[in-house]
Amino acid sequence: MHPLARRHFERVLREGKLLGIDKGCQYHYSCHDGNIEDCTFCYCPFYPCGDESTGGRWIEGGVWSCKDCSWIHRTEVASKVLEEMKHSGIKKPEDIEKRHNRLKEMRERINTLYPL
Ligand code: SF4
Repeated sequence: MHPLARRHFERVLREGKLLGIDKGCQYHYSCHDGNIEDCTFCYCPFYPCGDESTGGRWIEGGVWSCKDCSWIHRTEVASKVLEEMKHSGIKKPEDIEKRHNRLKEMRERINTLYPL
């Protein structure tokens, strides 16, 4: 996991609540044109989901790009993801790495509840 992602997840899991919009973030407008509701999962626990229905896509070099995914940034989605992470006992970034398969199932379930 990238050190910046680790630091961000530590904060999210420690605070245990949505962070809302971070208008002070230097990437806010360049990444999402300012059209998102919530920045809690700026680093996504499902990365790389490989599901183009979210707006993500594979780009050159076999890299998964989340640039056009606004799904995880919807308040209702981010809230549900955080709630389910807590109920799954995910307390630190290492838990995200260890439970990739469980998170994959979680994402599919939440995507069914809150489709694009
Ligand atoms: S496309 Fe969206 S849901 Fe998929 S990994 Fe990226 S941010 Fe997460």
